[in-house]
Amino acid sequence: MECIKKTVVALKNSKYAVAFTGAGISVESGIAPFRGEHGIWNKYEERLWEINYFIQHTKETWDMLCGGFYDTLLKAKPNVAHIALANLEKKGQLKTIITQNIDDLHKKAGSKTVYELHGNASRLRCTNDNSNYFAKDFNLKAAPRCKICNAILKPDFVFFGEMLPEYDMHMSVEAASKCDLMLIIGSAGVVHPAASLPYHAKRNNAVIIEINPNTSIFTNELVNIFIPMKSGEAMYKIENY
Ligand SMILES: [Zn+2]
Repeated sequence: MECIKKTVVALKNSKYAVAFTGAGISVESGIAPFRGEHGIWNKYEERLWEINYFIQHTKETWDMLCGGFYDTLLKAKPNVAHIALANLEKKGQLKTIITQNIDDLHKKAGSKTVYELHGNASRLRCTNDNSNYFAKDFNLKAAPRCKICNAILKPDFVFFGEMLPEYDMHMSVEAASKCDLMLIIGSAGVVHPAASLPYHAKRNNAVIIEINPNTSIFTNELVNIFIPMKSGEAMYKIENY
């Protein structure tokens, strides 16, 4: 396919390529998008993801998180697309991944430089002293507590009403602003401020490549090469071209 060939050539010619990933890349790992019909998120009321609700109803929130939500997340495995991105980084063809996902699948796939705009659910943070933990180290049958001060822990992803992690956002803007190629994978471009990042890349005249089964708000506005496929299929073809 012409779009695959063009992408392979563009990647080889680029000096600073960045991937920007959204929920679409994790669908083939069994984590459906937040707003999707079959999303794990959709089984819960939206208020569950609001920080004020968490603060006021911490135990109730954890009772719900302890069920299927964490089971699904912790068991999920990286798919072909995550692994292909990790391989591109090893070959020196990809500098950075900027992700909107909280599922830890890029790091599980072996990617090293990953900026997580919405945090990472595999980590837990103390609501009192900010101590960090791995979710896998708790049995998660009830609200996990800090081993130092016994306060309840919070999943370390960004709830509605919370600020984005400052360091990751800063580094993402920097990477997007200096890249000469951006690979947008599975992002619908509806969640801000993350969705502004491809525009930073465009202003630097970067080649913008989008992998998405359906068009997004980026497709007509700034994309140079559009690959109308699921992320696993497209990345497999790019890797094995
Ligand atoms: Zn603590």
